[in-house]
Amino acid sequence: MPAVGEFDLIGRIRRRAALREDVLLGIGDDAALVRPPVDRILAISTDTLNSGVHFSHGTTAADVGWKALAVNLSDLAAMGAEPAWCTLSLSLPQADADWVDAFLDGFLDLAARHQVALVGGDTTRGPLSVSVTVVGALPFGQALQRDAAQDGDDIWVTGSLGDAAAGLALLSGHAFDGAAHSKLDSAARAQLEQRLHRPTPRVAAGLSLRGLANACIDVSDGLFADLGHVLEASGKGACIALSELPTSPALQQFAAPEQRWPLQLAGGDDYELCFTAAPAKADAVLAALQACETNGVRIGRISATPGLIALQPDGRAWTPPRPGYQHFEESAT
Ligand code: ADP
Ligand code: MG
Repeated sequence: MPAVGEFDLIGRIRRRAALREDVLLGIGDDAALVRPPVDRILAISTDTLNSGVHFSHGTTAADVGWKALAVNLSDLAAMGAEPAWCTLSLSLPQADADWVDAFLDGFLDLAARHQVALVGGDTTRGPLSVSVTVVGALPFGQALQRDAAQDGDDIWVTGSLGDAAAGLALLSGHAFDGAAHSKLDSAARAQLEQRLHRPTPRVAAGLSLRGLANACIDVSDGLFADLGHVLEASGKGACIALSELPTSPALQQFAAPEQRWPLQLAGGDDYELCFTAAPAKADAVLAALQACETNGVRIGRISATPGLIALQPDGRAWTPPRPGYQHFEESAT
């Protein structure tokens, strides 16, 4: 493990960080200088990944790098903003150049796919922790806010739910009630773990939903909790059908419907978009999602009556064992 100094590490990062035309000054000065696009407002979001909390010690540096940026791009996607720049704050137990190089492999791979420039950051000694801030742009008045759900809106979800939670259950080796581990082929297992380590931020989908969706949120803490935030902010309620939850073939192999509902509703780490749109817009929503090769399904409807009801196929209401992950929760079960 080559031990180097803070400035060597920053030099390694600077040499590999790609620029954009609108970056007037990147890594190296007291602050970065960027030129915002004409007639756009900026969306800014920060998310931190702490070792032992958001990723386990066994997670590869490249996966940590990818995920640290992915969770931030997911937040911009949920606002309908186009990502442009980011900063990276690294807290490292020691100046481990190999770890930083591998971290950059994952981080900069995802940054390049979305033309995001890393323009600055901070590098300090401390417990392993990665904090990223992303900045994106969007037209005034077109942000997809949480408080905009309307009575009668369809509730949509992109991609599929529950894979990352299943991947976590597999990796942590926790006995999982009802899980068909033995039936799970290695490709399906790898796919579930990949969804945990390398989430796909739905950036193109978020952009395509501007002008179509009303409210939007990214599903990071579990659908129940995140849709709950939309309902609370909008002063609305909702009814969803568990039979409509988008489920990957790998998750279908992993667990029967009743066993996977907790993963799909309260598992977290999905980084799909959950959004609402008027039923009259359904065809346009489908076309917009198709144009960016993203699946989307309707799972329920917004109502004026507060509360979130999840209906089982037999019509009975279902209650999740826990609503979703919360830091500082008194008694996490
Ligand atoms: P200062 O002491 O002025 O805050 P630093 O020594 O912290 O400067 O950082 C020097 C330059 O390197 C700055 O431009 C800063 O944005 C950049 N930088 C530091 N750490 C990182 C990092 N982890 N990723 C990207 N840029 C970084
Ligand atoms: Mg600094």
